Amino acid sequence: MLATDMQIDEIEAWLRQDDPQRLTELWRAADALRSEYVGDEVHMRGLIEISNHCVRSCAYCGLRAENAGLPRYRMKIEEILDCARQTEEAGFGTVVMQAGEDYGITRSWMTEVIRRIKRETSLAVTLSLGERPREDLEAWREAGAARYLLRFETSDAKLYAKIHPPLEPGEPDRFERIRWLQELGYEAGGGVMIGIPGQSYAALARDIELFREMDLDMIGVGPYVANPDTPLGCGKMDALKLPDGEQVSADETTSCRMIALTRIVRPDANIPATSALAAISTQTGRRHGLERGANVVMPNFTPAKYREMYHLYPGETGRRVFTPPSREDLAEFLASIGRRIGEGHGGRRQVQADVSGCA
Ligand code: SAH
Repeated sequence: MLATDMQIDEIEAWLRQDDPQRLTELWRAADALRSEYVGDEVHMRGLIEISNHCVRSCAYCGLRAENAGLPRYRMKIEEILDCARQTEEAGFGTVVMQAGEDYGITRSWMTEVIRRIKRETSLAVTLSLGERPREDLEAWREAGAARYLLRFETSDAKLYAKIHPPLEPGEPDRFERIRWLQELGYEAGGGVMIGIPGQSYAALARDIELFREMDLDMIGVGPYVANPDTPLGCGKMDALKLPDGEQVSADETTSCRMIALTRIVRPDANIPATSALAAISTQTGRRHGLERGANVVMPNFTPAKYREMYHLYPGETGRRVFTPPSREDLAEFLASIGRRIGEGHGGRRQVQADVSGCA
């Protein structure tokens, strides 16, 4: 049964389901819950990739510190403000500022960026800046940031340790950091990559169970895309791969099974049709994501001169569909699948309303 309280063995069976008729049932159940709980509006988040500097050594990500061939940039406040204004002019309610884990982005500088966006626009502010100290998260929340995205990437702790080495031994893990975000009153976002070498169906089913237990407001799931400039993507770590039948594949259908099951266990969450899904499936990725449980899209507003350098993984060609982001094209695309662009901030809890003087 496709119920919100479905058990982990059932979740795993659905993740492995190949029968076209059963899959149609899965898509229909997810789409019906999406429609019932979050409606036909698709919320647009203007994405600004504000820096590609990074201190981390994540084995999957092109921004990793060891990637010496990648030219680095950090946007200036005025450039960020320009992109935020473009997001607002397009009629979108939220700006997402994402970056590598860059301590050149200081607590005070980021506080100023958030304050100015809150003062000069009507946008909700979402951050995705990695594993920052709690004091930074606190200051940015007080400055008016309403939401924070921090995927836990996989619930398999052993695999996670191999692909996401800690900066310092014993540092708080991403689960603890997501709890901090919730305590600080952020809408908290988590999520995982799908098809990481070494990721089993059982681990993926556990990810979904955790989405339910953690009461996440936003859940981003997208396919892992091999980046040849990284240890995980260049073949060096191929020994991690599991035998056929156990290793999760990073394809469109598996990604959609994840989106659909995520919607079923967390019917009122905000779930994006991710850029990674659009990248591996340029023709149908975004549409299928939206038809099988997703209700959010993140059009990219990063200036063209920086976009090439924000290189998490290759082939981010799916973005072309939305670049430059044209409200008309998006509205037309959504109308073709019976949906429309969302109005307002599009939060799950509208937490920004309780930040005094910042809304
Ligand atoms: N530094 C921040 C935000 C940037 S990375 C952070 O780590 O949270 C944003 C997301 O991109 C990551 O959480 C990861 O899930 C995804 N990502 C990174 N490399 C990827 C790859 N090779 N394939 C697919 N997704 C990737």
